[in-house]
Amino acid sequence: MSERGLLIVFSGPSGVGKGTVRQEIFSTPDHKFEYSVSMTTRAQRPGEVDGVDYFFRTREEFEELIRTGQMLEYAEYVGNYYGTPLSYVNETLDKGIDVFLEIEVQGALQVKTKVPDGVFIFLTPPDLEELEDRLVGRGTDSQEVIVQRIERAREEIALMREYDYAVVNDHVPLAAERVKRIIETEHFRVERVIGRYDKMIKNTKPIR
Ligand code: 5GP
Repeated sequence: MSERGLLIVFSGPSGVGKGTVRQEIFSTPDHKFEYSVSMTTRAQRPGEVDGVDYFFRTREEFEELIRTGQMLEYAEYVGNYYGTPLSYVNETLDKGIDVFLEIEVQGALQVKTKVPDGVFIFLTPPDLEELEDRLVGRGTDSQEVIVQRIERAREEIALMREYDYAVVNDHVPLAAERVKRIIETEHFRVERVIGRYDKMIKNTKPIR
């Protein structure tokens, strides 16, 4: 049977460009991991596709899934729920395939308590002014929501210490490349491969 896949948790403050970096990572053919589509109660933005960008659900539907233990993690973020459906993650990891989550910090910390051997990568903005510029430039949120998102970003950056890696998003293709290298390197950690070698040693006959 193949080894279980790696759970990769890619996170960072709102507006830092997680979605853009994630798209860059998945636009190249050399990644070997699968993206877990999140669920949310927020309104669908123009161009977003249900089941591709998010699974768009009502609050009632989302709360039912929480109640019945079907979310790996979830968070309430600026008035809406966001979360990761558990079954897809488990089934994919069981097949030996890595799973990539793009989630905010509160959810990432929940995953850390449940899956401590996941790979936790934090995408950082070069500075907070740039983060605000990006949120304004995106034009998808009201001024009030932007203020909330910046406040949340400050709190989130302070939690970077809970992560394994910090990647600066100074240039999208570069940031994507760094993330891919981290994931590749993680596969070589002794603690991840030692089980295979232990078995090999046990099953090998001693040399006369
Ligand atoms: P947006 O509304 O801009 O699409 O997303 C808002 C925030 O929710 C982003 O920081 C995004 O990474 C985060 N997010 C997206 N999906 C999930 C999820 O499944 N769980 C959690 N905890 N956060 C998520």
